[in-house]
Amino acid sequence: MNLLALPAFADNYIWMVHDDTRAFVVDPGDAAPVIAALESRRLQLAGILVTHHHADHVGGVQALRPLLAEGGVVHGPARERIPEPFVPLNGGDTVDLLGLRFCVIDVPGHTAGHIAYAQQGVAQAPLLFCGDTLFSAGCGRLFEGTPAQMAASLAALAALPDDTQVCCTHEYTLSNLRFAAAVEPANAAIAGHDAHCRALREAELPTLPSTMALERRINPFLRCSEPAVMAAARREGAANDEPVAVLAALREWKNRFR
Ligand code: ZN
Ligand code: FE
Repeated sequence: MNLLALPAFADNYIWMVHDDTRAFVVDPGDAAPVIAALESRRLQLAGILVTHHHADHVGGVQALRPLLAEGGVVHGPARERIPEPFVPLNGGDTVDLLGLRFCVIDVPGHTAGHIAYAQQGVAQAPLLFCGDTLFSAGCGRLFEGTPAQMAASLAALAALPDDTQVCCTHEYTLSNLRFAAAVEPANAAIAGHDAHCRALREAELPTLPSTMALERRINPFLRCSEPAVMAAARREGAANDEPVAVLAALREWKNRFR
């Protein structure tokens, strides 16, 4: 199975999984890069997965729908407005595509009905499509949800295996690492990963997928119980050392961080 990150807009990735014959895509905000990838590799479109309703994730769905092969459908979050028709999914549901099985996880916070797709039943390197909930070294903005919801959503994702391939939908890694370094100046893993990602970006390569093991070491939003992160959050106004208060303070700090 092949995994591709198709660049779209300024900093989106549309993830494509293919077996050299058929493909599915995740969050096609734009149809053009998907059509180009399908044509150049002579692939049939077997399905579309959507994580949440934002335009940069669903904008290409209607243009791609006529390209869906027999039996191919659009899957999306049951509690959000997704271009119709689509198969509505809730946490705990499963989706089978190209012989891969994904479990749906409810991850509200960025939007109210945001879902993630976590591959099940493989021995190594399961795929995770987490939309705008978890970014490398960061997390999505809280447009529709609360810090408590985002904390629970990130905890659910952080419980996935170490070698999970974290497929986020934005190339925000370098700016997120700059924030992560401000939160934890003494965390050598952040500096090391920053050097690695700078080299990737200079070569015009994605910094993604990340792994869950790496995110647990560098992502301040997954490190709300670390003393250094709690102390930084306190300096930025966190009311206490509870993970939700720490996450809320980090998120607000990140919103104004330049
Ligand atoms: Zn979004
Ligand atoms: Fe987005």
